[in-house]
Amino acid sequence: MSINFSVLPDVTPDENAITILNVRAYVIKSNETETNTGGSADYHSQVDGHWIFGTDKWPIANPMSLYEKYKSRRSTWGIDAIGSVIAEIELTNGIKGVGISIGGQPACFIIENHFSRFLEGQDPLNVEYLWDLMWRSSINYGRKGLTIQAISAVDLALWDCAGKLRNEPVYKLLGGKTKNSLPCYATCYDPLAAKNLGFKGAKFPLPYGPADGDVGMKRNIQRIKEIREAVGDDFPLMIDCYMSLTVGYTLELLELIKPYNIKWLEEHLPPDQYDGYAQVKKQNPSKTLLTCGEHEYTRWGFKLLLDKNCVDLLQPDVTWCGGITEARRIVALASAYDVSIIPHGSSIYSYHLQYAFPNLTMGEFIFLSPNGDSISPSFGQLFNDEPLPIDGWIHLDPYKPGFGVTLNRKNLYRPYPRDNQSKSI
Ligand SMILES: [Mg+2]
Repeated sequence: MSINFSVLPDVTPDENAITILNVRAYVIKSNETETNTGGSADYHSQVDGHWIFGTDKWPIANPMSLYEKYKSRRSTWGIDAIGSVIAEIELTNGIKGVGISIGGQPACFIIENHFSRFLEGQDPLNVEYLWDLMWRSSINYGRKGLTIQAISAVDLALWDCAGKLRNEPVYKLLGGKTKNSLPCYATCYDPLAAKNLGFKGAKFPLPYGPADGDVGMKRNIQRIKEIREAVGDDFPLMIDCYMSLTVGYTLELLELIKPYNIKWLEEHLPPDQYDGYAQVKKQNPSKTLLTCGEHEYTRWGFKLLLDKNCVDLLQPDVTWCGGITEARRIVALASAYDVSIIPHGSSIYSYHLQYAFPNLTMGEFIFLSPNGDSISPSFGQLFNDEPLPIDGWIHLDPYKPGFGVTLNRKNLYRPYPRDNQSKSI
């Protein structure tokens, strides 16, 4: 039975509204440029030898680790193959908003050749309406992954426009601030370096997975023991498993790491194994918390994780999960289950969300310097003025509108310009 008593008329901009003039989607002009400038939206677009691929001494366990050919470095199977997408929305008054994600040229194609029709001519402040159009129209090929990453980039560009139109930072549009500054933990190769730089905790990758057998498990425990001894008893330590384990292996690992006071174990299973996550949570023999969510998408994906009681803590990536519009729904949903959220990376796009809502207690800062032991911008040279943590704290400037950053246009390339528009910027 329908409760719609009439068909809704088209949503049109109010008279004299500032509207969207043009939508453009860029990549970085070459892989070489992207890696040599410290990556951009794709954290993994880094130079050879970068710690984020794994090192000779300590590889990084991942879903491809069971294949000998691909186990030594995550770059061997193309973790960096897709690259960044940068969505830019220009308004009729000249304001430009920027949003980013991963997705590279395929995401540019979706944004330029599909989503632009819903955006150009519309009021950029109608974020719920525009999100709904992009979501519904891409259900036949989307729902998770690359398509939602393309939606995320556009949505973030809309929020950046909205902030600049109102001359306010995005967190103020979301309801104002719940904190004056944001404490951060570091994801890095060297937790002692993170401690010395003032970070409130540190996370490091698990080197080996089930395919490496008992010897690999022993090496894992050796790595964890060495790090615990280096940072002392009380510094919070977390371990990222990057979707590489099984239920049985995770339960054994949780038992073996008991002496090392590990705060949380992250993404131990592939993201579709909801029942496996629930089983580990139920049988967890330790006080170590369980987390996941960086490769989950939309409110529906996160609702599954919550309903099945999969983890203690959720980690959506704001540039992947559907943008700010979807992330704030996920935040509201999680609060009803009393589950905290600590977003995955995302720098400025996460910081504004974290300022605005009380159940986001801490930020993640990923060390993207080649050795993983010092601070550099999360998005390489993509922005001229990305805020960096000072003594482990992020401070947002209340007088910078939108997300508060300026796009560096130098290395951008537009693969799918429309009509007579140019590939140049
Ligand atoms: Mg992770």
